[in-house]
Amino acid sequence: MAMIEFKNVEKYYDKFHALKNINLKVEAGEVVVIIGPSGSGKSTLIRTINGLEQVNEGQLLVTNFDLADKKTNIDKIRKNVGMVFQHFNLYENKTVLENIMLAPRLVLKRDEAENKKIALDLLETVGLADKAQSYPRMLSGGQSQRIAIARSLAMKPKALLFDEPTSALDPETIDDVLKVMKDIAKNEGITMIVVTHEMGFAREVADRVVFMADGQILEDDTTAEFFDNP
Ligand code: ADP
Ligand code: ADP
Repeated sequence: MAMIEFKNVEKYYDKFHALKNINLKVEAGEVVVIIGPSGSGKSTLIRTINGLEQVNEGQLLVTNFDLADKKTNIDKIRKNVGMVFQHFNLYENKTVLENIMLAPRLVLKRDEAENKKIALDLLETVGLADKAQSYPRMLSGGQSQRIAIARSLAMKPKALLFDEPTSALDPETIDDVLKVMKDIAKNEGITMIVVTHEMGFAREVADRVVFMADGQILEDDTTAEFFDNP
């Protein structure tokens, strides 16, 4: 069973046809990078995977539940599929540690001591152990994004979606975020779908590269195929 499978998916914003006959299969543990011009539907595509946008036609199976089916419980999908946004969306009035511990406490009812241990370990993973008691406003963009990634990982998701995670960052902080993403891809075995313009990341980390234009998937290649046939 694939982790994520689009079958003939169509998506409209009113009359605007944003996703056109999307067929895409992502297996557990795969890292897929999605590229394409601005406005081609990349963000729409990954937002459908955790129910932030609804599909209008076709099937979208995530952990074998169809997001086009009203009976599918989106909260259960979101427990398994995390999302990292361009603009972090951290809780500004909570410390870094609290940002990471909140959802596991509320949603998973994780034991408090266990929750704290996992959060502190994740802060080590993203290289920000010294920021546990800081507030988001004290962090750079790159640090904020690494905290947002740690927060997503704290839910122990099966899949993690990244929507242009470095596009809003100062150039000098981008590499730290990409390094964390590379480490996750190599060490966590988690399924990752990454919308990005960072071709170095794609070449080094991705299993597959998907190219979108005008709401369609025009290429779906292994990384080797993609970079060897320019
Ligand atoms: P990309 O991520 O490739 O830049 P998007 O998925 O954000 O593309 O957008 C694809 C197209 O859908 C664009 O033309 C955009 O203007 C349109 N679009 C995106 N979100 C909405 C919305 N909420 N309502 C109407 N049109 C939208
Ligand atoms: P939990 O971790 O909350 O116990 P499980 O994944 O074990 O959830 O599923 C519990 C029950 O809910 C099972 O019967 C499963 O088939 C069903 N289920 C799981 N995910 C969904 C979903 N997204 N939509 C509807 N039912 C689901």
